[in-house]
Amino acid sequence: MKFSITILFSLLGIIGISQTYSLPKLKYSYSALSASIDSTTMEIHYTKHHQAYVNNLNKAIAGTKLEVLPIEEIMLNASLTPDAVRNNAGGHYNHSLFWDILTPKKDKKPSAELYKAIEENFKSIDSLKKLMNQAAASRFGSGWAWLVLTPEKKLVVTSTANQDNPIMDVSKVRGIPLIGIDVWEHAYYLKYQNKRADYLGAIWNVIDWEVISNRYTAALTDPLMQKIEKDNWQELKDFYKIIIATCHPLEENNFAPIREMSGELYLKALILKKSTVPASLKHEKTKLALEKMLILSKEIHAMVDRNEKDEHIKKKMEELHTTFHEVQEKCTH
Ligand code: MN
Repeated sequence: MKFSITILFSLLGIIGISQTYSLPKLKYSYSALSASIDSTTMEIHYTKHHQAYVNNLNKAIAGTKLEVLPIEEIMLNASLTPDAVRNNAGGHYNHSLFWDILTPKKDKKPSAELYKAIEENFKSIDSLKKLMNQAAASRFGSGWAWLVLTPEKKLVVTSTANQDNPIMDVSKVRGIPLIGIDVWEHAYYLKYQNKRADYLGAIWNVIDWEVISNRYTAALTDPLMQKIEKDNWQELKDFYKIIIATCHPLEENNFAPIREMSGELYLKALILKKSTVPASLKHEKTKLALEKMLILSKEIHAMVDRNEKDEHIKKKMEELHTTFHEVQEKCTH
C-alpha cells in the first residue's frame, strides 16, 4: 500500500498537475523540405524561434494558475491573459501545427470527406489555395493565414496577426485551425527575402493533405468546438463577468460588489435572455435556465433595493450561480 502511494505521488510529479511545454519531435530532417523551405531556415525556425516560444511560455506561466490549464483553455481566454502568455502560447501551438502539416512526401491527397467539404465551400482546391495565399500575402507585418473549421461546420479562410490563432477569443473568425501558414519573415526570408508570394507558391508542394484530412475529421467532433461556440456567445460572457465580480467576493463575505452591481446584474440577465442562443445549445434546458437566471437576478436586485440581510442575498446568489453553471457546463462532455 505504502509502495503504491509512493508511485502515485511520483507519477503526479511526472505527468504534472502543473506542466511544462517542450518542442514536439519533427517527423522529417531539416533538409527534407528544401525544395520549398531551406534547411537553415528549418533549423533556426525550429531550434531557435519555436524553442524560444516554448521557453518563454514556461517562464510566463510558472507559478500561476495557468500552469494547470490545457493550452486550448489558455487560448480561449487570450484577451484576458498577459501578452507574454498569449504570444508564447500561440507561438507554441501554431508552430506545432505548422510542422505537423508539412511533409517531404509527394502526392498526398485530401480524404474524400475533406475534398467534398472544400468543393462545397470553395468550389476547388485551387481556389482554396488562392484564397489562402491572398490572406497570407495581405497580412500586414507578421502573422498567420488559416483554413478554419467553424462551429457551423463551415470551412473559412482567415488570417491573424502576430502569434494569435482562430481558437483565441481575439480572432475575428473562430474555430479549429486545419491549416496554418506562418508568414513571419523568419519563416522564409533566407530563401525568398522579400518575395513572400514565392514562398506561398512553394509551400503547397510540401503540405500534408493526409494530416489535414485527419485534423478535419477530428475537428468535426472535437469538444473544443463547442467551447468556442459558447465562448462566442458574448452576452453569456458579459453575464459571466458580473457573476465573477459579485459571486466570488461573497465567499469571503464581501457584499459590497453585489450591493453595488445588482442593477447591472439584472440588466445583463435581461440582455442574455434576449440574445441569440448558439445552435448547439438551443434547447429547452437552456431556455429554462435563462428564464430562471433572469427571475433570480431581478429578485436579487429587489432584495438589494430593500436592503435585505446579507445571508438572504447570499442564498439567492448561490442559486443563481448554480443555474448559470447549468448553461456553462451542459454540453462540454
Ligand atoms: Mn514561425
